[in-house]
Amino acid sequence: MMRTSPVLRNKDTLQAPLNRKNNLTGQASDSNDSPFWEPKWETLSREDLESLQIRRLKKTVARAAQAPFYKEAFKKQKIDPERIRSLDDLRRLPFTTKDDLRQWYPYGFLTVSKDEVVRMHSSSGTTGRPTVVFYTQRDIEAWANLVARCMYMTGVRRSDVFQNMMGYGLFTGGLGFHYGAEKLGCLVIPVGPGNTKRQLFLMREFETTVVHIIPSYALYVAEVCQKEGIDPQNEFKLRIAFIGAEPHSEGIRARIEDFFGIAAFNSYGLSEVNGPGVAFECPYKKGMHIWEDAYIVEIINPETLEPVPEGEEGELVLTTLTREGMPLLRYRTRDLTKFLPGTCPCGRTHRRIDRITGRTDDMLIVKGVNIYPIQIERVLMSLPEVGNNYLIEVHKQETGDELLIKVEVKTEVFQEDMRYLEGLRKKIIHEVREEILVTPKVELVEPNSLPRTQGKAQRVVIVGKQ
Ligand code: ADP
Ligand code: ZN
Repeated sequence: MMRTSPVLRNKDTLQAPLNRKNNLTGQASDSNDSPFWEPKWETLSREDLESLQIRRLKKTVARAAQAPFYKEAFKKQKIDPERIRSLDDLRRLPFTTKDDLRQWYPYGFLTVSKDEVVRMHSSSGTTGRPTVVFYTQRDIEAWANLVARCMYMTGVRRSDVFQNMMGYGLFTGGLGFHYGAEKLGCLVIPVGPGNTKRQLFLMREFETTVVHIIPSYALYVAEVCQKEGIDPQNEFKLRIAFIGAEPHSEGIRARIEDFFGIAAFNSYGLSEVNGPGVAFECPYKKGMHIWEDAYIVEIINPETLEPVPEGEEGELVLTTLTREGMPLLRYRTRDLTKFLPGTCPCGRTHRRIDRITGRTDDMLIVKGVNIYPIQIERVLMSLPEVGNNYLIEVHKQETGDELLIKVEVKTEVFQEDMRYLEGLRKKIIHEVREEILVTPKVELVEPNSLPRTQGKAQRVVIVGKQ
């Protein structure tokens, strides 16, 4: 069945060029005929999208009212779910926070009996006790469809071999993509992270074309390739990577793309509202489309809780529209981003958000200045002498906090004389100061000497008394 769309009549619009090699256009030649290219949903006019959202919001609120947490919250705040009639009414609903999820742990957000729940996942626990999430069979289906939609959008097809290098188990990155890729009909290699030599063996042996991987781990894989004398561009058939689960700069993406000769797409999601598949880059890679038929998106000032003007950064707040077992209303993700203005040349109408700059709780205050680790990463990754890993240490001292940045340099750079290295160190201090307005201490360290994890990278360490 060929679906047509009012916006995407011109096939060229879909054949978005990627900025790398021509054969990496990300769009396969099998036209648009797929249940996972969904112009019916992906190119809705704003008006239709909003009326769909209202319909789904009403249902969601009525459903949420069955959950112990919302039952009590609605009662306390005298909210009548019946009176939610417009998108503006959404603002009368209370926010839901990570602390609420923790306090009402484990079943306080369930709207169905446990008999109907088929799966549990949990957050990684990056910022404290992990929260748990439950899925009905329909939730799993809807989630897999969203992930399949994301993958299809970047050009993945059933002919692809998909090596899923994200953690399986409670973390949503593994199974979330696994189900999406199976739906799409890919051959899925559910290897999970780690054991890098085996990863490389599988890539070569089974001609993997698509991987899903944490960006810091992708850079580590690149280093192992170098050490083993493997040239991925000649020895592998890789063409696409999905990178997400942790903040990363454009510089990190560029390094991954250049080394492997692939297109890397930013993938955003969080377990509380499914997992991956919430927002995703299209072939134009100008921000991530956030699926507004599945989520209502707000961006608020985390202090005033008021919406920020378009284009200004704030905290992302999500209301689920299709989740059955555990709907969430106005969930404060703590992730910082902004809406990108204008429409996307790909023709999809769902708004785009900018790459996540970090979480509200990632902010460091050093000498009275607010700093996000990603600002430092942006500077480091723009310098060709700098290697693929770094660590920010905040040393707590009576006289005020000190910032020490440990920076791995490239092997060939590390072999240069002391004078050269001292010049580079000073250059890094200067460039970082320009960006964050605080003078850091910088230590250059050997390649591969800083600690690495298979999961989300630990970029910041607090040293000394808190
Ligand atoms: P935890 O919050 O414990 O890390 P999750 O495993 O559910 O739990 O991870 C979701 C979080 O990971 C998001 O809230 C966000 O902070 C981060 N994240 C996920 N994808 C991205 C991405 N593409 N860019 C930046 N951060 C991301
Ligand atoms: Zn687009």
